[in-house]
Amino acid sequence: MTTVAPANPRTDSRASRAVREEILYCCRESVRVGLNFNTQGNISVRLPGTHDGADAIVITPSDVRYDAMSVDDMVVVGLDGTVLEGDLLPSTELPVHLEHYLRRPDVQAIVHTESTFVNVLGALGRRIDPVLLNMVLYAKGPVETMPFEFSTNADFGRRSAELMGDAVNAVVWGNHGLLAVGTSLKLAFKVAVAVEENAEVLLRASAAGTPNVLVYDDIDVPEGARLP
Ligand SMILES: [Zn+2]
Repeated sequence: MTTVAPANPRTDSRASRAVREEILYCCRESVRVGLNFNTQGNISVRLPGTHDGADAIVITPSDVRYDAMSVDDMVVVGLDGTVLEGDLLPSTELPVHLEHYLRRPDVQAIVHTESTFVNVLGALGRRIDPVLLNMVLYAKGPVETMPFEFSTNADFGRRSAELMGDAVNAVVWGNHGLLAVGTSLKLAFKVAVAVEENAEVLLRASAAGTPNVLVYDDIDVPEGARLP
């Protein structure tokens, strides 16, 4: 008996076309709004229970221009690191994404960006304190900065996840960029945007005086309020 391969192998992918399209949108949007330049950054989304009952992720490929990237270029990888689908190499920071997913079951998506004001504070080794509402609502607290080290291995990923902790949704990699997480890709992207906007305002406000720092637990969000 012969097995006939499906005409379009992606139609039975663990990652739906909608998920792949949302990732591609966020990749292109990250360049448009100045969170990344050229092929910088990477994005992944958790695919619960799709790898023999365990979770997998779909992640952007390594070194592909976003304007040339297609939904079929993304790579599906088990949380154990097994490449399950895709013809291209996964992002070089795959081991870091995996460590963050392993530590935090609540994390459904990861957005890595290399935006300018995050990197100004990261190069100074400074923590990013929340001074804007969006930052405190989405990142949920001060974002710590890791000292510089090369970022493509699991040890780095474990330290990155440990420094982020379980309550905050982002961490700065000194001299490199930001890793933001969320319970959806939409929220992880909002975190990356909010931290960059906050970093710029924090830097400018600190130059002019002493900014008022917000504390997540002190924010009284009215019952039923829609978030900005
Ligand atoms: Zn990077």
